[in-house]
Amino acid sequence: MTTFETYLIDFRHELHQHPEISKQEFETTRRIREQLIAHNIDILPLSMPTGIIAEIKGDLPGPVIALRGDIDALPIEEESNISFRSLNKGAMHACGHDLHTTVLLGAAIRLSQLKDKIKGTIRFIFQPGEEIAYGAAEMLKTHLLDDVSAIFGWHNDPELPIGTVASAHGPVTASVDAFDIKITGKGSHAAKPNEGNDPFIIAAQVLTAFQTIISRYLPSQTNAVVSITQMHGGNNRNVIPETVSLSGTVRAFDPAIVETIKKRMSQILAGLAVTNDAKIDLEWVEEFSPATNNNPELTDFATLVASESGFSTTSMSPLSIGEDFANFQLQIPGAFVFIGSGGPYALHHPKFEADDKILLPIVNYFTSLALQAPNFIANK
Ligand SMILES: [Zn+2]
Ligand SMILES: [Zn+2]
Repeated sequence: MTTFETYLIDFRHELHQHPEISKQEFETTRRIREQLIAHNIDILPLSMPTGIIAEIKGDLPGPVIALRGDIDALPIEEESNISFRSLNKGAMHACGHDLHTTVLLGAAIRLSQLKDKIKGTIRFIFQPGEEIAYGAAEMLKTHLLDDVSAIFGWHNDPELPIGTVASAHGPVTASVDAFDIKITGKGSHAAKPNEGNDPFIIAAQVLTAFQTIISRYLPSQTNAVVSITQMHGGNNRNVIPETVSLSGTVRAFDPAIVETIKKRMSQILAGLAVTNDAKIDLEWVEEFSPATNNNPELTDFATLVASESGFSTTSMSPLSIGEDFANFQLQIPGAFVFIGSGGPYALHHPKFEADDKILLPIVNYFTSLALQAPNFIANK
């Protein structure tokens, strides 16, 4: 094993042992900063508490290309048996963002030694708050990325074999919208429900009616999900409460479908409020991510470089998970790929793990991608 590979593995293990959840990535940011400084890589003045944007200016003229890696962990208690398990209680790199951060740092270090071959500028976006769809939009607001011509990112995928890169034109992940519903009826003694207006019964109607949106309101080929994931109400066995709250999420791949679903949800709730003589409030959570939208040419280019870098490549159907990279793609043309990380547990599983040996080949892949992208863009 080369010293550089050992360096990557050590850095990843250190991140994995010290995971920090979204918007709390202070130590993670400090660790990345320390390494960038040690390798003489410029850091841009970013007005955010966590996250880093670094850059390398090449010796030759050319466009600005961005590589993005996300740095946050999840509020999950790690249950894996690996030797570098999380030391931070209640936090875990269960989505493998420790891999993404390490690869981005590794590519920056590699490219810092190749300035004579770099055309233009390469930006390295260490994005905080991916899991809550916060960081991408915040970073765009700083205007430090206004001049970027193309952006590339990746996610590890435990369901793909190691050495495989998967992508597709258009969406590869879903839009994520989240909502809260508050049903206000009238509380009563459990023995005298006729004197109240039971919000649980209304909540049950909401649950069933929402399940008709996809199955009975949208064409059968539509890919979308409406899920209620929380239901809270009551704190006594013999009291019917006044309110019940529900929360959930909508996933889709087409903004028009999202709008149709939202409209239908409002219609259903308005109807149920009248039918039940109750008050039903619906609120959409502000932080959300649209579906990723892979630029076809950049995706073909990223796939070609992957196969030149020794990966087997495959196309994929869009996944119903969300990915904040999509917010960058609202402004910057880009390509997002999935790369096999060797399972066996799914992303966000408390036993999630990934093989260290994927790191170096992916660093080499993104290094080639960054070196070749300016030529590709110039000839497009
Ligand atoms: Zn995740
Ligand atoms: Zn993730």
